[in-house]
Amino acid sequence: MRSTLLSAALLVTASVILSSQSAPPGGQPIRIHAATVLDGTGRTLRNATIVVTGSKITSIESGNASGATYDLGTLTVIPGMIDVHAHLGWHFDKDGRYADRPGDPADEILYSAENAYVTLMAGFTTIQSPGQPNDVALRDAIARGILPGPRVLTSIRVFNENSGTPDEIRQKVQQLKKEGADVVKIFASASIRDGGKQTMSDAQLQAVCGEANALGMRTMVHAHSPESIKASVNAGCRQIEHGVFANDEVLKLMADKGVYFDPNVGVVLQNYLRNKPHYLGIGNYNEEGFAYMEKGVKINAEMIKKAVATPKLKLVTGTDAVAGAHGHNADEIVARVQQGNQKPMDAIISATSLSAESLRLEKTIGALAPGFEADLVALDGNPLNDITAVTRVAFVMKGGTVFKHVPPAAKK
Ligand SMILES: [Zn+2]
Repeated sequence: MRSTLLSAALLVTASVILSSQSAPPGGQPIRIHAATVLDGTGRTLRNATIVVTGSKITSIESGNASGATYDLGTLTVIPGMIDVHAHLGWHFDKDGRYADRPGDPADEILYSAENAYVTLMAGFTTIQSPGQPNDVALRDAIARGILPGPRVLTSIRVFNENSGTPDEIRQKVQQLKKEGADVVKIFASASIRDGGKQTMSDAQLQAVCGEANALGMRTMVHAHSPESIKASVNAGCRQIEHGVFANDEVLKLMADKGVYFDPNVGVVLQNYLRNKPHYLGIGNYNEEGFAYMEKGVKINAEMIKKAVATPKLKLVTGTDAVAGAHGHNADEIVARVQQGNQKPMDAIISATSLSAESLRLEKTIGALAPGFEADLVALDGNPLNDITAVTRVAFVMKGGTVFKHVPPAAKK
């Protein structure tokens, strides 16, 4: 079964990759020409050629397509998209039901590899996965450069109200740093299915975010209620997730303190509702929980409008992708524009350079410029005119290697 899964994944890979090519350092550069290039920082280039040597962009030239290794014609090239909150390990089991506890470790890592693959094919070249120990093996395997998947950042574990006294919490943060965690994930409030009230004490929040800050580690906090958001921001935490009940006061507080806000309005709740039979009856996935989530979709639609309208609020792009949602990550970008009235260019910046900044990777990914990693995707359409173009990914390059290239002729 396990090898069947892997060979199935590899077969799919082989059928999609018409060309998998990365130039050795110092070898022939790859030249990618497109009619339109959005550089991820707000600039639009027309009729441009991106030159890639090894894993990096070495120059961007304007002019015609002559000598292009890949002439992408009328496609629009943007930086590889970034999802700052996706759970690569979540999956439906062989019986089609949500697997709410780890099963056979070999099966688990293969499900994660499948999710990583579909996420990369959807144009996401970097994701942050909060809270799954086997993310470490996945992160390191993808980084070896053979297994197709996005760059993975992981929290390994999570903190919540049961994580102990402030002293115990500080020790656990130190331990996490030793184990190579990229971020610290914290649950400051209950799930939306349980109403979203603050669960960790102020002292616990101060311990976890204070220690992380002292060690130079980033923090991301699950928080729904205004109280839990306020307590987290005041404890020095640097990124807030979800925030379904965020009001004007805490939106302004986050903006004033330069805290990143990652509302998840276009993928996660819609995915739960679409896949209700796969979840219903497991843990808090009961009728009451689904009723909360149905309400949550409507509350989110109003909240995101207020968030987008809040001056200087740093809105990053995360989906909270769970079982059933992997590969649909770009729906979040569409929702930010269609529900939240975000300008399409701002939505692209959010999913690229601003999210890279939130990961402290703004000097290496999230923009198309010389010296940056060659992470780029090409869209069928221009997202500035039609934001749904972000869901039509025809070309994916990560770190100078092409993982997907669907030429226009292949479309029916
Ligand atoms: Zn999550």
